[in-house]
Amino acid sequence: MSRFSSSRRPAIIYGIVMWAISFVIAGFLIQLGGSIIADVPLSSAPIHQTDFVDQVAEETLNEKIAGLRVAQRDGARDVEDLQAKRAASEQEYLSARTSFDNWIKTRSATESQDQNPEVIARSQGLDALNAARNDARRELQAAQAGQLNLSRQEEDLHSEQSALHRAAYAPYQKALRAETLKIFLIRLLILLPLLLVSAWLIARKRQSAYWPLFRGFIFFSAFAFFVELVPYLPSYGGYFRSTVGLVIAGVAGKYVITAMRRYLEKKKSEESKTEAERRNMISYEVALKKMSSQICPSCDRSFGSKKDVISDYCVHCGFCLYNNCSSCDARDNSFHKFCGTCGTQKADLDLTASPSA
Ligand SMILES: [Zn+2]
Ligand SMILES: [Zn+2]
Repeated sequence: MSRFSSSRRPAIIYGIVMWAISFVIAGFLIQLGGSIIADVPLSSAPIHQTDFVDQVAEETLNEKIAGLRVAQRDGARDVEDLQAKRAASEQEYLSARTSFDNWIKTRSATESQDQNPEVIARSQGLDALNAARNDARRELQAAQAGQLNLSRQEEDLHSEQSALHRAAYAPYQKALRAETLKIFLIRLLILLPLLLVSAWLIARKRQSAYWPLFRGFIFFSAFAFFVELVPYLPSYGGYFRSTVGLVIAGVAGKYVITAMRRYLEKKKSEESKTEAERRNMISYEVALKKMSSQICPSCDRSFGSKKDVISDYCVHCGFCLYNNCSSCDARDNSFHKFCGTCGTQKADLDLTASPSA
């Protein structure tokens, strides 16, 4: 708008207030909708993968593992005891051996024959100690092997357990998908009526005096759609979301194309009408707004830049843009109702000044 605004001042304020009211309505509706959604039992308890593990098999495994752990603890004590026993027998044998060796040495020095039976008895004693030492060693080794066996069994049980948990993955995923779909459908059920009403309002009520109120409702629906519905769209590996996006873009595209075609047809049919008929179809405010932006109010094409000398008639459709006052002959916007120079009412000028189409 260059020189002056075409709208009356209160009309401008009315427009601003109505936008504010639209937003306030949308804000309160969003709050109300949020409370409703929060109160609707949208989902049951959250699902976990552990819910799908075979409970009986899991318990049996846990019992077996617990049993093995007890056995391992007992086994560890036995190993400790046997280690002590082995060390003692080792010690006993070594000291007996040392004393025998010393005794043999002194005996060799004296060479007394009558000591033979004692040699036999002593070496028999030493043999017994050695046997006991070997037994203790074997016992310890057996106990250690037993422990190793137990820990291997436990490892096997643990891998059985993880196999059991892995088996739960597929049914868990399936249940998760079903749950996601259920939540989405419940939300859709709540929000679909809103979206349908909004679509109907946009299609039918744009010219209504109550449009600013409807506009608030439409903002609310749009918010609900993007915040309460879109994030809950089931993904199905991206297929579903992409498909929904494509459908929405397709519908929007078709709507825009149809609207544009309708607009062009309307303009074409307007251009075949007489200047007076065309002038009657244009509202005063809209005409002044378009004239100040140098757009022809009839055909919506630009009629020149500010540098150009602006002609009286639209070069595209022949519509009369500027004419001269019948009283003072000053050139003026053809939509002005009064001459800007002498103040004469121009009510009849439009028809007389127009060239016949
Ligand atoms: Zn034009
Ligand atoms: Zn005049």
